[in-house]
Amino acid sequence: MSGTGEDSTKRLGIKASGHPMDPRTQELVAHFQQAYGSAPERAVRAPGRVNLIGEHTDYNHGFCLPMAIERDVRIVLRRRPGRSVRVTSVQQPGVVEFSLDARPIPKATAKDQRWADYVKGCAQVLRDEAGIELVGCDLAVTGDVPLGSGLSSSAALEVATIHALLAAASVGMEGERIAQFGQRAENAYVGTNCGILDQLSSACGVLGQAMLMDCRTLQLTPAPLPAGVAVVIADTGKRRGLVDSAYNERRAQCEAGAKSLGVSHLRDVTLHGLRTAVASGKLPAAAARRCEHVIAENGRTQAAFACLRAGDAEALGQLMDQSHDDLRQKFEVTCAELDDMVAIARALPGCLGSRMTGAGFGGCTVSLVREPQVAAFVTALTAGYRAAHPAMTPAVYVTKAAAGAGTLAL
Ligand code: ADP
Ligand code: MG
Repeated sequence: MSGTGEDSTKRLGIKASGHPMDPRTQELVAHFQQAYGSAPERAVRAPGRVNLIGEHTDYNHGFCLPMAIERDVRIVLRRRPGRSVRVTSVQQPGVVEFSLDARPIPKATAKDQRWADYVKGCAQVLRDEAGIELVGCDLAVTGDVPLGSGLSSSAALEVATIHALLAAASVGMEGERIAQFGQRAENAYVGTNCGILDQLSSACGVLGQAMLMDCRTLQLTPAPLPAGVAVVIADTGKRRGLVDSAYNERRAQCEAGAKSLGVSHLRDVTLHGLRTAVASGKLPAAAARRCEHVIAENGRTQAAFACLRAGDAEALGQLMDQSHDDLRQKFEVTCAELDDMVAIARALPGCLGSRMTGAGFGGCTVSLVREPQVAAFVTALTAGYRAAHPAMTPAVYVTKAAAGAGTLAL
């Protein structure tokens, strides 16, 4: 893919096919050219995700019901001689460079370069754990998944990075393994103890479908969303820092709960089993409330999948409502902003269910809304939330289920 003819075609934002490139890719190509002085050879993308139900279940080997969203991280790349990788992002300042021969690859020392640790972590994991012979390359990143709002911009960045590094090295890999290496990069290198939900949704999303995800077997079973309803995501504008948040504490509480109950993961406990254990004093009441959410949520998520199969949007909405109420009262990972956004949504015409989505403590809600009411819902939800929280800037996204990560035509 070299030659001045093609390079000038790219500068003009025209694909080799003769169709114009979409504006985001065009901007990214221009950013690449400005940073490195040449045109990129390849492009990849990986979407963010929204979880319809099944929250804080992934690390308990349970069930989730995510879908990939129509917002993504894109990377354009070009191989370069030598053993270093350079990376730049439209959303962040500067160019970060690291050597593929450094063991370990050093993490950022400057705060404004920390975003590139997701990229370095992927390179290190692919090299050391997957045994891939990586090659030097230049990367430019752009994303329209909002950063830090629970729609998994980090997983989208990791999955896109792995696709980009593999493309440069001309190596293929299955989506499921890509997701696992992305998760490893985030766990072991960046230091966030996330489950597999985010990366697997991004790597293996199915166009037009939500997916029942079994986080023990990693099996994905797609099912289309009910006809006539839309998925509406509302960002509260309240940012959470997952690394510093109570996420790791909740996770430890679940692990301790499973241990007291004599199982490796809460997936293996029934509500009846939990109640018996509490009655016999095996588990303190506070720990039991955390476990109860996870165990009930696994049941709700499987029930929600049955609703998708049956096309029963109303019952699905009710399960979403119950999920939020448990996350608020028993798991205690909501906040005033999330609770208010949900309460405002539920009171609006056409809303079948609404809940927080993602790890909590801020970030987004997801609502199921009848299609004819969507436009009015978006306007009223934004106005209602603004009135309740004048200091916050909400954002609302209506999205269909997008395809999982892959290559993008240049
Ligand atoms: P979430 O995954 O919910 O969006 P995280 O805190 O897990 O929130 O990850 C957000 C981080 O991912 C950002 O702070 C940044 O470091 C990195 N990131 C995501 N998208 C991009 C991007 N387009 N360019 C640079 N860094 C990004
Ligand atoms: Mg994340």
